[in-house]
Amino acid sequence: MHMQFKYCPKCKSDMAGTVIENEPRHACTNDTCDFVQYENPTPVVAAIVEHEGDIILAHNKMWTQKFFGVITGFLEKHEVPEPAMIREVKEELGLDAHSPTLIGHYQFEPMNQIIIAYHVYAEGEIVLGDELDEYKRIPPDKLKGWPMGAGKAVTDWVNQRNAEKAATE
Ligand SMILES: [Zn+2]
Repeated sequence: MHMQFKYCPKCKSDMAGTVIENEPRHACTNDTCDFVQYENPTPVVAAIVEHEGDIILAHNKMWTQKFFGVITGFLEKHEVPEPAMIREVKEELGLDAHSPTLIGHYQFEPMNQIIIAYHVYAEGEIVLGDELDEYKRIPPDKLKGWPMGAGKAVTDWVNQRNAEKAATE
């Protein structure tokens, strides 16, 4: 969810204007100012972390529901996705991630995000970071995705894994 500017960050005029460039966009009402709010999606990295044969799902302190998800995070300024994902795994689980595989990118419309999802192996002892309060281990054979955001990456990863297993059996 992107905040819509009420006042122009350039000239402080009312942002009630609209310009059409492909689609309607929020714009400054001051004729001498050209500020337009583009609301581009925010990239987010996600990691399906495999640790000692299990997938680690975690619960964020901010979540009110009893929901366990994959590790996600924002990129720092000038950071690219893969090192950002490895950094997030270290910060949130205390694990050293290696051998990442890109699963794909997924839209998370409610938050206007594009989730770039990886599977990654990780070593070490789990120590939860500040954002998490609980985790659980799921054997890959029991893992199921969910129909939103990074959950779609989990579904794709599970399906791909099953297809590979079927091909070698
Ligand atoms: Zn303005």
